[in-house]
Amino acid sequence: MVDIAVIPGDGIGKEIMPEVCNMLKNIDSSLNFYYYDISSERYKRTGKTVTDNEITELKGYKSILFGAIGSPDIKPGIMERNVILKLRRELDLYMNIRPAKSFNKISKNNINITIFRENMEDFYTEISGKVNENREFKKINSIYNYNIKIDGKSSDNIYYNLGILTEKNIKRFFKKAFSLIKNNNITVTDKANAIEMYNFWRKIAVEMAIKENKNIKFEYADALAYNLIIDPGKYESIIAPNLYGDILSDMLSGITGGLGYSPSGNIGDSTSMFEPVHGSAPDIAGKNIANPVASILSASMMLDYIGLNREANIINTSIDYILDKNIIPLESGGVYGTAAIINHIEKESICRLERQGYY
Ligand code: ATP
Repeated sequence: MVDIAVIPGDGIGKEIMPEVCNMLKNIDSSLNFYYYDISSERYKRTGKTVTDNEITELKGYKSILFGAIGSPDIKPGIMERNVILKLRRELDLYMNIRPAKSFNKISKNNINITIFRENMEDFYTEISGKVNENREFKKINSIYNYNIKIDGKSSDNIYYNLGILTEKNIKRFFKKAFSLIKNNNITVTDKANAIEMYNFWRKIAVEMAIKENKNIKFEYADALAYNLIIDPGKYESIIAPNLYGDILSDMLSGITGGLGYSPSGNIGDSTSMFEPVHGSAPDIAGKNIANPVASILSASMMLDYIGLNREANIINTSIDYILDKNIIPLESGGVYGTAAIINHIEKESICRLERQGYY
């Protein structure tokens, strides 16, 4: 038996994820799903985002499936910071994996690139503040394993956000990335020509690449963005700091098939969490029109990660097959709604597994 925590969340996450879990259960009855009502609805009712108890329980799972979070009647940032960023931090999910793959009949190009994005640091560390004009200033931030004091005086108002890279985290990040990357076409990106801390990022990248026996090449993030549009076929694996990784992976999602085809995994040493890249899309929620492929691909990433490689493979091949057969989601100009797409993928997967004598 494999226990998996599920956080359907809001909007299309709440609509799609339980259906995807039913599909997975029909494909492999050894999977058990445990649902957590971490959602905007609950926040509005009770004021709770994620409780300490939930964090403790979630830490006990090897994998978590996450739908989407966010509601138009809650101030932007509250659910994102108190749910997504909090889970990443508390569960120590230090790597974000974002595959971008072209599908026949959906994309015009032939892209198969995976971005490995650092998930905790860089400009996302919440070390930020304001220095008021002509005032003495002192601020101390203590988070994770560091304690940073900033003081000074300014003749203007200053807003700042510190970019931080810590050696232990960046080392484990590159080690994990190199252990997961099976090819030797690896590009490490940054802006070391403009931002000093990325020279440290490069130093660790080289050190860990030698240790893990990998060849890497470096490319500045601006040049890489340009080349990914001009000649995406020459890339396979990209390792990026948090901020550039975020931007580049959304860009690749846009040029492959769109949000409805983009899965992701947040990886840690003990727990990992898989989720579609899209948000809760309240404009289309509950109407059976959202594309469920991103959630299904996230689920198959999870199966692959926990060693159910055969099931993951079958689901991926079934997605390719139904799209080839012109079963196209509404999002991509087809006529098939959420439930129909899930149904077709489930049937095709079960058929393929039966043919292989799986059951
Ligand atoms: P967030 O800030 O949480 O990422 P957002 O509102 O900025 O949320 P999304 O919710 O991801 O962005 O979606 C933006 C738009 O893209 C939606 O309003 C919706 O129209 C479309 N969209 C997103 N996901 C899907 C999907 N799976 N199928 C069809 N359309 C989608």
